[in-house]
Amino acid sequence: MTFEEQYAAYRRKKRWYAGLFCALFALCLAVSWITAKFDPLTLLAGLPRTTEFLVKLVPPIGLSTFGADLREWYWDGAKWMESLLSTLLMAYLATVLGTLLGGFLSFFAARNLESFEDRKAPPVAPGKVRGGTRVLADQAACPFRAFARGRLSAEPLEEPESGLDARDRGKLLHALMREVWTRLRGSEALKKDLNAAIAQSAEIAVKELELEGRFAELERERLAKIAREWLDVERRRAPFSVHAIEQKRDIKVAGLQFESRIDRVDELSDGGHVLIDYKSSRMLTPKQWDGPRPDDPQLPLYAVAAPEELAAVVFARMRPGEMRFMGYSRADKLLPQVQLYRDWQKLLDTWKRDADALGAAFAAGDAPVDPKEGLKTCRRCELHTLCRVYEKISPVGDEA
Ligand code: SF4
Repeated sequence: MTFEEQYAAYRRKKRWYAGLFCALFALCLAVSWITAKFDPLTLLAGLPRTTEFLVKLVPPIGLSTFGADLREWYWDGAKWMESLLSTLLMAYLATVLGTLLGGFLSFFAARNLESFEDRKAPPVAPGKVRGGTRVLADQAACPFRAFARGRLSAEPLEEPESGLDARDRGKLLHALMREVWTRLRGSEALKKDLNAAIAQSAEIAVKELELEGRFAELERERLAKIAREWLDVERRRAPFSVHAIEQKRDIKVAGLQFESRIDRVDELSDGGHVLIDYKSSRMLTPKQWDGPRPDDPQLPLYAVAAPEELAAVVFARMRPGEMRFMGYSRADKLLPQVQLYRDWQKLLDTWKRDADALGAAFAAGDAPVDPKEGLKTCRRCELHTLCRVYEKISPVGDEA
């Protein structure tokens, strides 16, 4: 075979491969068309994926033709180089052109696609809201979280833990305090021997959680120790009587009704009431009540809805070794270590205004993915697969 004949055969082969390439391109388009259910917009929007497929496909086709060329031209160094360059050039030119075409078409397709900001749910019907005051804490932390938990009932799956989890320990603590104060009813009883009242209260709390055997015994001892340490803190207070224990109240905010249960309300002998919330967390500060998006709006909500005349609003921090009251009072030295808030009425008015704003936002269906402190808030939330916040931050799902 003469050189011209060999070269003509080589060109025919090239044309054949070029034809195959075009046929594959047409096939890709046809498949995209069918899978896009004959919708030209969807088809165009899917073109980048077709292009990506081609980008992967073309170089192997080009290199396979190069293998054929190599067999034919191995005896001629110059032709060998020419063949190599033309093959690679053709392969990569096709890739670049395909990419450009795909990008171009998707640009025009994107101009015709409709998009909308999914930040708003339908308004909430007036009346009782499922989830109680926790809904407003969620609304402050992230409006989407309030929507997902309060209205879609989205909750994370519970994970089993060995021993008691935080919720169980909280239940034990609340049951212990309920039983202690049901027996004592005020500061006068703190002067007496409290061992029997403490033992009975710890016994009832452990029974409520259906703990048994040695585990129950250890918990009884632990609870009795906590109660003794806490009652030492209560002894340092001015005289008081217990006015309400774990009282259920409905709180109305922005036309909605939230169920709540107040841990304790005391009546002071010199007038006024103290609102008390038991907590065992270390990271506790009254600053968590401040601002239009408070970290813990529960006590401010109870305070603005309380019919009693309030003299102090406090956390009872019940961590062994760190027990104390924390909060604000309208007069100095009303409770040990509790800060005086000089403009008491202004504080209550601010809490009311902030609570109304949160309630109104939830009622109006405001549900943007807007965590209060960015990913710091999200780390304490289990809903990222639903809100897809990580896609908003990074398209590949990495935590930025
Ligand atoms: S993970 Fe973050 S953005 Fe998503 S619902 Fe929770 S707090 Fe909001």
